[in-house]
Amino acid sequence: MVTRIYRSILLRIYLNWLPALLVFSVLPYHTAMACSVYGKGWGSKWDNPVWPNSATITWSFMTPGVGLGAAAPPSWSGVNTLGSNGPGDLRKIIDTVHGTGAFDAAVRRAFDTWAAAANLQFQEVADQGGDFGTVTQPDIRIGAFSFSVGDLSGAAGFGPPGDDVNFPDPLSGDIAFNDMNNFNIDPGSEGAPLQTGPGGLYLNDIEGLLLHEIGHTLGIGHSSVPDAVLCGYQSPQFNGSACDYTRVNRVLSADDLQAVRNIYGPAPPPDGDLSFDCFVDAADAILANRIVLGLLAPNAAQLTRGDVAPLVTGTPVPDGQINIADLLIILQKGVGQVEF
Ligand SMILES: [Zn+2]
Repeated sequence: MVTRIYRSILLRIYLNWLPALLVFSVLPYHTAMACSVYGKGWGSKWDNPVWPNSATITWSFMTPGVGLGAAAPPSWSGVNTLGSNGPGDLRKIIDTVHGTGAFDAAVRRAFDTWAAAANLQFQEVADQGGDFGTVTQPDIRIGAFSFSVGDLSGAAGFGPPGDDVNFPDPLSGDIAFNDMNNFNIDPGSEGAPLQTGPGGLYLNDIEGLLLHEIGHTLGIGHSSVPDAVLCGYQSPQFNGSACDYTRVNRVLSADDLQAVRNIYGPAPPPDGDLSFDCFVDAADAILANRIVLGLLAPNAAQLTRGDVAPLVTGTPVPDGQINIADLLIILQKGVGQVEF
């Protein structure tokens, strides 16, 4: 018994320190950098304007209190209430019901879902200030303003740079919630009927709604497929009423996947690059180790990239989890023992 406990402690120490030891001895170490160095503004996508091509997209929560620039829809009013801590602050409203951090977590899940679906990376950064639709950095900025009275929209998202008629560059990527509307983190699972609020008011599910708006900021227009996340108004003939807006919709349909992969290409196969810096090195070994030890919950994109084991004739055959077998292969790849 004592020996068994001793062995298990040894194993734990081994698992905990092995990657760190390798870090300082063998593995190269790269500083974080964006994979893409292409300029912006020529095509209607982020980064390299040629389809399909990857993109690294920065995003932020818009600074509370900033106003609306001239490019914003003229019917909107007010200042950004998101994060203001006032009575109209959507984060405060959601967190009061669902717990501290619930709003931000729902937003991050929406980005993770898109990141896992295509050759996309998102980096959350601090906001630099500036009114809605007036600055180009970060790429995507999320705020909340008052749409016109009677506007039932939950939110609006503006497309990427390159389409200067519809989306002048400073407006590109900006997302606004309509703070006149009602929102929720719906407790139901995929396909369940959305809960309604007092008086039967439709409650927008934060994650599903943001999936839709982020899709617009990536350059995807409305689809006529009823269960597509991007289903919406296209013409008087397809006015969106056939879209299934009454159910929880947080899973991208085949139609959504085709659209985003058309622009950015498919998500890369599992390659061990958990830190999304284009290298497999010490940073990835540390992340994999933390996941194996249960200290870090991988996001969807990390699950896709880090599930490299087992290797079958030198090619990853994902088994749906990141465990010690994945960690060992990432370590091997980091020191050049395997290549894929
Ligand atoms: Zn839309």
